[in-house]
Amino acid sequence: MSLRGRLTSAFLVVVLGPVLVGAVFVALIVSYMSDVRTDEQLDAAADTVEGRISMYCERIHTANTALAMTYRDGHTDTVTSMAELIVERGVSDGVTVSVDGEPSSVIGAALPQGQGVDCVAPDASSEQRVSAILVSQTISTPDGNVTLASYRIVNADFLNGLADHSHAAVELDDAREPRLEAGLSNPDKWRTADSFIPLRVGIPHVNVGPMYWVLGGMLVASIGLAIGLAAWLARSTTRPLGELSTAAERLAEGNLSIRVPVHGRDEMGQLAGSFNQMAAQTQRYVQALTSSRDQMRGQLRRLGQTLSATLDLDRIMEVILDTAIVATGAGGGVVMLVDVDDSNRLKQRAGEGDLGLDEPATVRFGEGVIGRIAAEGVPMSGRMVNGRFHGLQRSQTEPNAESLIAVPFRGRSQGVPLADDSGWDGLEGEQGAVMGVLVLYNRVGAPTFDDRDFETLETFAGQVAVAVENVLLHRQAQRLSLTDPLTGLWNLRFMQSAVQREMERARRYGHCSALLAIDIDLFKAVNDTYGHPAGDQVLIELARRINGQIREVDLAFRQGGEEFMVLLPETDEFGAVSVAERLTAAVNSRPFRLNIHDGPMELDISISIGVAVTELNGETAPELISAADQALYSAKESGRNTWRIARW
Ligand code: GH3
Ligand code: MG
Ligand code: MG
Repeated sequence: MSLRGRLTSAFLVVVLGPVLVGAVFVALIVSYMSDVRTDEQLDAAADTVEGRISMYCERIHTANTALAMTYRDGHTDTVTSMAELIVERGVSDGVTVSVDGEPSSVIGAALPQGQGVDCVAPDASSEQRVSAILVSQTISTPDGNVTLASYRIVNADFLNGLADHSHAAVELDDAREPRLEAGLSNPDKWRTADSFIPLRVGIPHVNVGPMYWVLGGMLVASIGLAIGLAAWLARSTTRPLGELSTAAERLAEGNLSIRVPVHGRDEMGQLAGSFNQMAAQTQRYVQALTSSRDQMRGQLRRLGQTLSATLDLDRIMEVILDTAIVATGAGGGVVMLVDVDDSNRLKQRAGEGDLGLDEPATVRFGEGVIGRIAAEGVPMSGRMVNGRFHGLQRSQTEPNAESLIAVPFRGRSQGVPLADDSGWDGLEGEQGAVMGVLVLYNRVGAPTFDDRDFETLETFAGQVAVAVENVLLHRQAQRLSLTDPLTGLWNLRFMQSAVQREMERARRYGHCSALLAIDIDLFKAVNDTYGHPAGDQVLIELARRINGQIREVDLAFRQGGEEFMVLLPETDEFGAVSVAERLTAAVNSRPFRLNIHDGPMELDISISIGVAVTELNGETAPELISAADQALYSAKESGRNTWRIARW
């Protein structure tokens, strides 16, 4: 049975049960009261009948006594007229006079056949036919014993009189057939009157039928009302439940925008309101999750693109830091790397969020919070209270925060030489040494970072380490392909493109540039005399001396064999000549120290230099190179250990 059915039934039982019991009770009371009332009315009718008969008797008796006294006083004539008057007045129906038992006269109606019941000494019996009620008196007169009898005849008129006064049915209960009766027809209840003639008085039962109709009508109306009320109550109770259950199903199917109507402010209304709140909250949560997932996807896509498309270390670290911040819900963060200038120091390479510092963060290994974490190489997470974090005091040069998570990362490859224009020279990734620390601050929506944030950040820290190493390895590979392994100078390949670039730049900006071609004098003899390795040492030492004489913007190349070139940007004829002289002097200033199998030795070396400048020799790379070569040839021709400038 449904809830609605059960509620309806329960309500009907609770409401209709008492109504039905009450109705039965009222019906019983009405029935009882009607019986009582009928009995009362019957008693009253009987009393009236009895009183009336007593009154008849008394009047007959009075009248008859008056007749007897009159007779005894000898006024026999007067007796007749008195008797006529008595009959006329209706006190008696008739009077008989007997002398010594013999009837002598009858005034009025004769006494009919049957038993005349004496009012004074009644002896009526229902086995006889009652003819009259009478009073008789016998007096002694000179004529003999005279008996005077006055009577009222018991007939239909007599009974009609009784019935009229008692408003009831009256029946003479004597031996007469059919019975003599008067008054109401078809009475329901009879009583024998307490009179000396056998009379029964009857009345109809008090009529309570209309009351039963009214009661029945009220009962039907109550039942109808109760059924209607029960149906309404059950419906108004179960409808919100049905709506709630349907909405819960929809919600479970994923329709988070579902809401239930709120009917009123009762418990069901409150339940519906709470459900709507819950659904709205869930919807907000899911929306937030979806947007955070979308943000994360976008961030990961950006990360992937960046990692695969760029070798810009700062850009890579920025994107990894952004992704780590989005993934963990941090307020900000920094990537700290070992400082290029001071390997005992960590310096901020990327930063996000307001970290409360005027300059990029820096900290020495072992100092402050980050420095200590970097020195120990152990990741840590927790809250920072008044600048203190797990017993460590923050230094002024590192960021402040309420919560912090820091993961150091290490290099895995050995000895990466770092020299390039990004200023990363000097960071040699020792195997397993801490290269830096990835730090996030102020977890949003939580007092501190949790274990999952920890795992996430370790992943990102690993990525930073790999990215740094990849960039460094790439730079190393790139450098190896452009440098001469013996001397460390740029090789011929790089020279061609560098000279080409410089010529274009000089042309565009109207600058001058110079190129020196350098060749060791009689080098073949060195090889032949001291061996090839000794020649190599001369080449290495010469490269060092050349590097020592040129500016940072100048580039020195080993063109091949024992031939070198130096590119001098922004240099005119005068500048180029002074460099050529300086180089010659640097080579001649002291002998070259060599180590051969016989031991260390010193050797005097000289070089010849050909100088070419854009002002004199054209503005294309081949023109300049060719001019420098020819000038060198000219220097050799002039007897070596000198320089010549190309002037054509
Ligand atoms: P010159 O004064 O005319 O230049 O005389 P030279 O002996 O230097 O003549 P040349 O330039 O022809 O000699 C080049 C020699 O350089 C030949 C070769 O033995 C030597 N050489 C070339 N490359 C290397 C190298 O990588 N190492 C060593 N040790 N010797 C080299
Ligand atoms: Mg040569
Ligand atoms: Mg030579």
